[in-house]
Amino acid sequence: MDFRTVDAAKMGKYYGDGKKILADIAEVKDRVEVWTDALAWGYFDGQLAIMRHGELELLKADQIIIALGAYDKPIPFPGWTLPGVITVGCAQVMVKSQRVLPGHRFLLAGSGPLQLAVAYELLKGGAKLVAVVEATSMRGLWRYAQKLLKQPRLMWDGMKYLTALRLHRVPFIQSHVITRAVGHDEVEETVIAAADKNWQPIPGTERTFKVDTICLGYGLIPNTDLTRQCGCIHEYVPIHGGWIPKKNENMETSVAGIFVAGDGGGIRGVDVAIQQGRLAGIYAALNLKLVDRATADQLAKSIRVKLKKLQAFQSAVGEFYAVRSGIYTLPDDDTIICRCEEVRLQEVRKAIQGGGIITLNDVKRRTRVGMGYCQGRMCSSATSGIAERELGLRPGSMGYGTARAPVKPIPMSLLLERSS
Ligand SMILES: Cc1cc2nc3c(=O)[nH]c(=O)nc-3n(C[C@H](O)[C@H](O)[C@H](O)COP(=O)(O)OP(=O)(O)OC[C@H]3O[C@@H](n4cnc5c(N)ncnc54)[C@H](O)[C@@H]3O)c2cc1C
Repeated sequence: MDFRTVDAAKMGKYYGDGKKILADIAEVKDRVEVWTDALAWGYFDGQLAIMRHGELELLKADQIIIALGAYDKPIPFPGWTLPGVITVGCAQVMVKSQRVLPGHRFLLAGSGPLQLAVAYELLKGGAKLVAVVEATSMRGLWRYAQKLLKQPRLMWDGMKYLTALRLHRVPFIQSHVITRAVGHDEVEETVIAAADKNWQPIPGTERTFKVDTICLGYGLIPNTDLTRQCGCIHEYVPIHGGWIPKKNENMETSVAGIFVAGDGGGIRGVDVAIQQGRLAGIYAALNLKLVDRATADQLAKSIRVKLKKLQAFQSAVGEFYAVRSGIYTLPDDDTIICRCEEVRLQEVRKAIQGGGIITLNDVKRRTRVGMGYCQGRMCSSATSGIAERELGLRPGSMGYGTARAPVKPIPMSLLLERSS
């Protein structure tokens, strides 16, 4: 059964924005074909491999704009694979899209505004929240005030979320991290601890809460599945989520004709994503000689002004909440790091302590970390974070994993049909 919107006014600002974009696309439907149920799963010799309605399509395009968004950043700790431990993104989808509460007694742990937004949605849905645990101390926030006030609407949203917590008497516990989830077949309780400035838990400060659901929100990771496959050069920019494709001011990557837009090019939020998409579209059109340089630059002018303002806000948020390396001390030897291949920390440790390891790909080859179903989306950043910390390396030193097709699971029959 499909969900239908009964009252659009209740759906918030972004619902209206989305409707407007769809209306804009409808206006050019003679030139823009929208494919739904289409998964881009690989890039081979200039061709994109797409699974569309279960069929294989190979697409060759002169210009490609990649906009794959982002996903939650997983942080392993003892008990994180127990049923009942989910990400804030997962909780948000269930509450906002499906109107389903994923549990009864919740604790949210992480860092950043997303967990506040999800806490607010959960409260609206009638959930019991025992605490929202924030790793960052809010004390230093005033230093970013000038940049943050450039987006008063988003600041207002933040205040609204905090007020809701206060009204529902939900403790907002700063400078603390989750250290453990405990239970037999599912989560029964969780332990948090005070954290130092580097987010390392301070022994002797543990507190236990009875919960059935833990929502983790330690930030987002840009989805670079396809930009890595296309051979684009990536750079490590922690305030934008880690490894992101290098791009020029027109959103073109190091590979001519391949553009990137939105969170897949660095976490900066929906408003930036929309403007970056416009910019990429204009300069892809210029490459195709559909517009001339003067027209393209003129069209881009007001977009660049908007972007400058929006990016100042997002960079301030990214810097303030950036993940600190102490969080990678949470897992113990027995903690699973790669869920798909069931690789535990002791195996990762053995691999990195064996000498000669300098990259994430080396760890991958020795342990199978990142070789499973999710192709490293769940474990790569944590594996690098742990290895860099244990080897005393600078964050980002381990590099990023090679992206292999299929970037997401596809049925084998899709390939067999084509080759027969
Ligand atoms: C879990 C989560 C929760 C968020 N919650 C909030 C919030 O509460 N408030 C807020 O302001 N912002 C929120 N954001 C941020 C906001 O969603 C993004 O900033 C914004 O959507 C970025 O737009 P985008 O176009 O870059 O990515 P998206 O809007 O994520 O679009 C990317 C699209 O690419 C598709 N895709 C991915 N891989 C493939 C592939 N291989 N083939 C085909 N399609 C693919 C995805 O299905 C998706 O439809 C959240 C982000 C995440 C990840």
